[in-house]
Amino acid sequence: MKISCIETFILRVPLGKERFYSSQTAFPERNSLLVRIETDTGIVGWGEGGQYGPPEPPAACIHYVLAPLLLHQDPMNRAVLWERMYGLTRDFGQKGPYIDALSGVDIALWDIVGKETELSISNLLGGRFREEVRAYATGHYYRGEDVYDYRKNLSALVEEAKGYVKQGFTILKVKIGLLPIDEDLFRLKAIREAVGPEIKILVDANHAYNVGIARRLCQEMEQLGGILWFEEPVPPEDYEGYRLLRSETSIPIAGGECEFTRFGFRELFTRGCLDIAQPDLCACGGISEFRIIQGMAGAFHIPVIPHVWGSAVALAASLQVIATLPPFPYTALPVPLENEPIIEYDRNPNPLRDSLALHPFKLQEGKLTIPNAPGIGIELDPTVLKEYTVAHQRSS
Ligand code: CA
Repeated sequence: MKISCIETFILRVPLGKERFYSSQTAFPERNSLLVRIETDTGIVGWGEGGQYGPPEPPAACIHYVLAPLLLHQDPMNRAVLWERMYGLTRDFGQKGPYIDALSGVDIALWDIVGKETELSISNLLGGRFREEVRAYATGHYYRGEDVYDYRKNLSALVEEAKGYVKQGFTILKVKIGLLPIDEDLFRLKAIREAVGPEIKILVDANHAYNVGIARRLCQEMEQLGGILWFEEPVPPEDYEGYRLLRSETSIPIAGGECEFTRFGFRELFTRGCLDIAQPDLCACGGISEFRIIQGMAGAFHIPVIPHVWGSAVALAASLQVIATLPPFPYTALPVPLENEPIIEYDRNPNPLRDSLALHPFKLQEGKLTIPNAPGIGIELDPTVLKEYTVAHQRSS
C-alpha cells in the first residue's frame, strides 16, 4: 500500500455577531485545516492540523515540504515517516506550523492504518480503559457588544453557566485574563453563586499574567474555593514562572496546549511546571508524538488531559487517545478530574465540530461516547465539507 495523494481543505465559518474573545484575541470565525490522505488501494485517512492559528501556513508546509517525502511511501510506516518529516524540518521547524502540519499528516496516517486493519485507533494503541468520558464545558468567553464591560455581560455569562449545568455538565471552564483580575474574580463569583458548590470550576487565562499577578489571583481564588485547575497562567516559555507558581499555590496548574513535541514537553516535565499536561493532538505532533508525551508524563506521574479545539476530526481523534489513558494513578473506582481523564468539549459556536461528522457527537449524562469504528471512528459529511471549504489543494 502506497500513499497516492495528499489533500488539504481549509474550512472557514464566519461567526458574525457570535464572535467571542479570549484574553489574547477575538474569534471572528471558526476555521480548521483538514488533511486527506489517499492510498493506491483506495483507503482514505483524515487528520486535522493546528488549532486556532491561521490554517494556511501548515497547509503550505504540507504541500511544499512534507508531500514530496510522503508520496509513494507505505502509510503503515507511520513512525518512520514521523521521524523523517521531523528530521527534514528540524532546522526551520520544531514548533509552530511545521509541527501543526506534521500533526495533521500523522493523524491521517493513523486513520488509514485503522481502516486497513479494521481497528479503531484506541484498539491499535493497545485497547480502551473506557467507552465514554466525562466532558467539561469550555465556554464563558468574553462576549457581547461591549466586551470590556463585564457588568453589562454578567447576566448572559451566568445564564450560559446555568445552561451548561442544565445540559448535564458538572465541570465548567471559565475564561479569565482579558479584564483586571478584580473584575474576573467578580465574574467567577457570579458563576459560582449561580451554579452552586456541586459544580466544579476550572479557569483558563491563555497566559495572560506575569507571576506576580498570577500569584495574587491564586490567593484570591483559594479564598473563593472550588477552583480545580488554573490553565496557562503565564506565557508558555516562562518555565520558571510555571514552576514558581505551582510551588506556591494549592490550585493545580495546567498547561501545554501551546507546546510542541516530546522536546517541548520534556522542559515542562523536568522543570516541574505542571500538575496536568494538556498536549493538543493537532499541534503537539499527532497521535505518534502524543503517545511519547503521554509516556513521559507517566514517568513523572503527571496526568494528561488533552487540549481539544477544532472540528469533529480533532474531537474524534482526541477521544481515541483518551480511551487509552490509564487512570492516574490506578484505583478501583477512578474519579473524573481526580484520577480519571475528562474531555474538553468546546461549547462556542462551531458547525465544523457539530455538523461535519455523519453521526454527530451527543452529550449523554454529561459524557461523550468514544467511537469504535476503524481509525478515528467517524465519517465526514461531504456536503458539510464542501459547504465550508474555502481552499483546497492537492499533491499527487
Ligand atoms: Ca486553554
